[in-house]
Amino acid sequence: MSQSLVLLKPDAVRRGLIGRILQRLEDTGLRIRNIKMYDPPDYCHILKHYESTDEWLFNVGKKTIEDFVSAGLTLEEVKRDYGVTDEMGIGRVVKNRLIEYLTSGTVVAVIVEGNMAIEKVRLMIGHTIPAMAAPGSIRGDYGTDNAAFAAASKRSIENLIHASDSPETAEKEIDLWFGSGC
Ligand code: ADP
Ligand code: MG
Repeated sequence: MSQSLVLLKPDAVRRGLIGRILQRLEDTGLRIRNIKMYDPPDYCHILKHYESTDEWLFNVGKKTIEDFVSAGLTLEEVKRDYGVTDEMGIGRVVKNRLIEYLTSGTVVAVIVEGNMAIEKVRLMIGHTIPAMAAPGSIRGDYGTDNAAFAAASKRSIENLIHASDSPETAEKEIDLWFGSGC
């Protein structure tokens, strides 16, 4: 038995998808152990949630460049939209946009429990970029956003849901949203 921390992001709440997304998680046999609404969350929670190690910043930047290339765009266009072309620099820009996105409205924090909960929920949410997320996944079924489209409006990718990616992050995130807080 394990627990995962899920966040329903402001776009999921605005679009009225709370019930449908939680239903999909429950349909698998996973159980909802706790729910808390942050209306909206403060900066401190988001900063602590995305601690943004160098590795995280680099990977976010790398995924962004890959997404631009797969959309047929060039580094010139990356430069136009982010002001920089290196992975770490892009990662930092994304981080700021992410803070704006997640403090822009209501976020619902949920503890989901069950066998293989962390792995199962990650599989269910799908790829970070909704345009690349498989049909049948939550991000794939309810969105088509991608890095280039989001960057043109200087905003974060909106992808409805967050889920813990390891036992260590799950423990840390559950403590942040349901325990000692900020
Ligand atoms: P995941 O949420 O799939 O674990 P990450 O931890 O890499 O993905 O990224 C955290 C969040 O940052 C994403 O869910 C998304 O909202 C946002 N994000 C990631 N990459 C970009 C990008 N290139 N441009 C804008 N926002 C992004
Ligand atoms: Mg992540």
